[in-house]
Amino acid sequence: MDIYKKSISELSELINKKTISSIEMTNYFIRRIRSFDKNLNSFITVDEDFSYAQAKIADKQIAANKNTFLTGIPIAHKDLFSTKGILTTCASKMLENYIPPYDATVVSKLNNQGMVTLGKTNMDEFAMGSSNESSYFGSVKNPWDLTKVPGGSSGGSASAVAARLSPIATGSDTGGSIRQPASFCGLTGLKPTYGSVSRYGMIAYASSLDQGGPLATSAEDCAILFNIIRGFDNNDPTSNFKIKQNEVKLNLNKKNFKSISIGIPKEYFSKDLDKNISDVIDQSIGVFKKLGFNFKEISLPQHGYTIPAYYIIASAEASSNLSRYDGVKFGYRCKNPKNLEDLYSRTRKEGFGKEVKKRIMIGAYALSSGYYDEYYMRALRIRRIIRDNFLNAFKDVDYIFAPTCPSTAFNIGEKTSNALEMYLSDIYTTPVNLAGLPAVSIPVGFSNKMPVGMQIIGNDFNENGILNVAHAFQKETDWHNKVPREFDHE
Ligand code: GLN
Repeated sequence: MDIYKKSISELSELINKKTISSIEMTNYFIRRIRSFDKNLNSFITVDEDFSYAQAKIADKQIAANKNTFLTGIPIAHKDLFSTKGILTTCASKMLENYIPPYDATVVSKLNNQGMVTLGKTNMDEFAMGSSNESSYFGSVKNPWDLTKVPGGSSGGSASAVAARLSPIATGSDTGGSIRQPASFCGLTGLKPTYGSVSRYGMIAYASSLDQGGPLATSAEDCAILFNIIRGFDNNDPTSNFKIKQNEVKLNLNKKNFKSISIGIPKEYFSKDLDKNISDVIDQSIGVFKKLGFNFKEISLPQHGYTIPAYYIIASAEASSNLSRYDGVKFGYRCKNPKNLEDLYSRTRKEGFGKEVKKRIMIGAYALSSGYYDEYYMRALRIRRIIRDNFLNAFKDVDYIFAPTCPSTAFNIGEKTSNALEMYLSDIYTTPVNLAGLPAVSIPVGFSNKMPVGMQIIGNDFNENGILNVAHAFQKETDWHNKVPREFDHE
């Protein structure tokens, strides 16, 4: 039946028609994880007993006709979403044994639909990274080429969905961590408008940037998941009331394509962009043009300041958020501390990895008195200007297209000793987080046998728009249905 190739709607139909039970479907994906994940390392935790218990409940609901569209369908969660009773490590030694007493809002919403948690996926430690190499549990491999990174920080979720070990997964995106791994692994990944998806129970990296969202094979599946996880949440003080507006309905009519205008930022498509990537993107723009969409060159003049501003702001917030890991409240505690200071310093020295320590140091420096105005305040001003650049552009166009990454997936180890190069791989994704806007990355082709992604960026709360545009493309093309050869069998 090739269940691994099915979309969420097709899986839902199989379950509804009772062709297959949730227990059987869960078992099918657990078997795939057991046989394929040895090579990928995309999961940190797989708790079969928990999954089967959820599947059993789902089957009861189905038998009683009390099921929803998603009941019984498996999903994997990035290991920074708190899951009650299941290990949640954030890929850090600091939380190696941490079992949360509650579910993140995203997880409880999906549990309430009857979805089945297959496990928790690998990631960069505390979501800091672009290659999944900073995980305490080892790096993750890209299913398209096992010598390459899957992207990060949601690399485990991306690798698992690309190899079809899970039909869909959650991720989080602070500066590109959903879109960049989606691009490296040939998936569709949605970073929602800031404030659309509750951050309650999502372990914080940089609170003003973090946003949860789906990693899936298609825009259609992203829309299905987004419609469930979105929504105002009293438990998240940054949750936005305007969220009422952004339910997604994939009903864009061909007749309307002609009235849609798309901006191409000249700063993004300059000669610095890899020719292979720009050729693939040009071809996909050709598909949109044929469908009738209108294109226009636009300018986002302050683009060059994005990476420094992002890394100052994200590190500043990280240094504050991570101060809670001190050996007292929860998580790792060093052995035989001599005194309180020794407890704090040794716990943090032993519990955090190198990348995390680097961010804490940069952040603490940027926030320290004397440097605050020069670094942090200035970065905040740049952030405002970058958002204004986008809002200005949206006076002229409905959507903005952008490359997702300057390259395809790079080799494992290639950039670990060059922080600047690693940080520059976020050049096209971080502006969207600084501006708080929604964006989706879709697969648009291949370069040297590795997938290439393209972003569709929308104005605030226009997830409906960007996913409709992505869906229009996916109805015409087949890139999103490609499965890496090694994993393209039962
Ligand atoms: N690569 C970026 C960083 O390291 C983004 C990570 C993310 O989105 N979580 O900060």
